[in-house]
Amino acid sequence: MTGRRSLRPARPLEVVVVGAGLGGLSAAAHLSKAGHTVTIVERESIPGGRAGMIVEDGFRLDNGPTVLTMPNLLADAFEAAGADMADFITIDKVDPMYRACYADGSTLFVRHGREAMTQEIREFASGKEAEAFGRFCDWLEQLYRVEMAHFIDANFDSPLDLVKPWRAGLELVKLGGFGKLGKKVASFFDDERLQRIFSFQSMYAGLAPYEALSLYAVITYMDSVEGVFVPRGGMHAMATGLAAAVEKAGVTIRYDSPVTRILRDGDGAVTGVELGGSPGGAQGAERIAADAVVCNPDLPVAYRTLLGGVEAPRVARRGKYSPSCLLWVAGVRGLPPADAAHHNIHFGHDWDGSFKALIHDGVRMPDPSILVTLHSLDDATLAPEGCSSIYVLEPTPNLDGKIDWAAERERIMGSLRARVAQLGYPTDVVVERVYDPLDWEALGMERGTPFALAHTFLQTGPFRPNNVDRRVPGLVFTGSSTLPGVGVPMVLVSGKLAAQRVDEYARERR
Ligand SMILES: Cc1cc2nc3c(=O)[nH]c(=O)nc-3n(C[C@H](O)[C@H](O)[C@H](O)COP(=O)(O)OP(=O)(O)OC[C@H]3O[C@@H](n4cnc5c(N)ncnc54)[C@H](O)[C@@H]3O)c2cc1C
Repeated sequence: MTGRRSLRPARPLEVVVVGAGLGGLSAAAHLSKAGHTVTIVERESIPGGRAGMIVEDGFRLDNGPTVLTMPNLLADAFEAAGADMADFITIDKVDPMYRACYADGSTLFVRHGREAMTQEIREFASGKEAEAFGRFCDWLEQLYRVEMAHFIDANFDSPLDLVKPWRAGLELVKLGGFGKLGKKVASFFDDERLQRIFSFQSMYAGLAPYEALSLYAVITYMDSVEGVFVPRGGMHAMATGLAAAVEKAGVTIRYDSPVTRILRDGDGAVTGVELGGSPGGAQGAERIAADAVVCNPDLPVAYRTLLGGVEAPRVARRGKYSPSCLLWVAGVRGLPPADAAHHNIHFGHDWDGSFKALIHDGVRMPDPSILVTLHSLDDATLAPEGCSSIYVLEPTPNLDGKIDWAAERERIMGSLRARVAQLGYPTDVVVERVYDPLDWEALGMERGTPFALAHTFLQTGPFRPNNVDRRVPGLVFTGSSTLPGVGVPMVLVSGKLAAQRVDEYARERR
């Protein structure tokens, strides 16, 4: 594990970062802190990648992440760029964090802060369950403390690195980190509805609670204990803010500049990138020289399209990918129901059966659970007066599943629209976009999922595609398909780990 060594100062390098997603921006921030000269080359005309935004007819619609957790990690990226996050974006608490609507008609508001949530559970379930929540939070906190330092914020050179921090490993065993998440959560709560709200987060890692290891409860910690936040102006403001901060720190960002090839010398080491090239040759292509290249696009796609001739690691080619989603974002006339919250989870009847359909059978959930996010509820700048922004996400199988999206998309969207209307949300559309797994694939995401390789144990830590590849010296990956993994907090950490790898390379080259 190299992330925690004391570092000799590295010789400053010329570094090109391919992609201004949150992983690429975070890498650029940490690289600039280390004194490297950094150019980001982004194919789109805006930063953020998956954390994008549609601006149309007075609406500002986020079309990526909606649940921001661990904003301190975002602040770390700003700090690396020599900036104070508060000078660029304002982050507010979302409270209630979720409105959980169950199929039996009951509703639970997930509240910010332990005390408020304990009270909520007392009223919703019982005093016994409220007490269990305290014990559950203590357990989650211990789990997070052990994992963050030793297994998340760390580079790995070999699986042996996993056992080197043996005390931490032992502690994880003691905490029951290697049992199943679903069972562990059920050991705290008798109420099945509470089991659901505190274990559904395993979906963020691409796994069902009954198959995920308990150690993935760190996601529940980040969400339910540390809390859910939102930047003013929408989630995309994270990216525009960080892009502005890194530019201020001296990083050059070139938009509308798709990279067509990562250039290498006779030994395979990177020498720069090519822009605007064609598959048949480099006619009319521009080249930017670099000592190191940090690559933010989806890792398997980058190997295939930018590194001709170098095969992606086996786990990226053969591994198990997370489920995908059908996403409907719309600007609509009308306002949400009075009891709606910023994030609304509508659970279906079945629980294990839903995951089985999605993950193992590759079919639509028979009774889909959906997330409805209403960004404009807390931010009037996102929709014109009398209108709302609405974001509806239904988890679906990825393209390894059995759904023929070209044939089924309209029918599935029809039933989703009907469900959303029946739940009382306004659906008189002014502006809309729909993304199904074929769209995610067209945007450059392997197997049509924006959530990368699932976080099974054997696809995590040293077993996940590494951020460096011995065959291509000077190439470093950042983003959700490499270490540590998926989601905004993780890709921000991945940028920091990528910058550490560039430093290592700079020292090797001296
Ligand atoms: C619908 C949806 C909902 C989500 N919900 C949440 C959530 O609530 N909470 C959460 O934490 N996470 C969520 N996520 C996951 C999170 O958004 C991602 O894990 C994270 O944003 C990925 O960042 P990244 O830097 O790895 O990749 P990306 O954002 O994909 O960045 C890659 C960048 O590379 C650029 N690029 C690609 N190819 C080239 C090329 N050839 N040349 C130049 N540039 C190129 C792309 O345009 C892009 O800007 C969600 C994602 C989606 C899509």
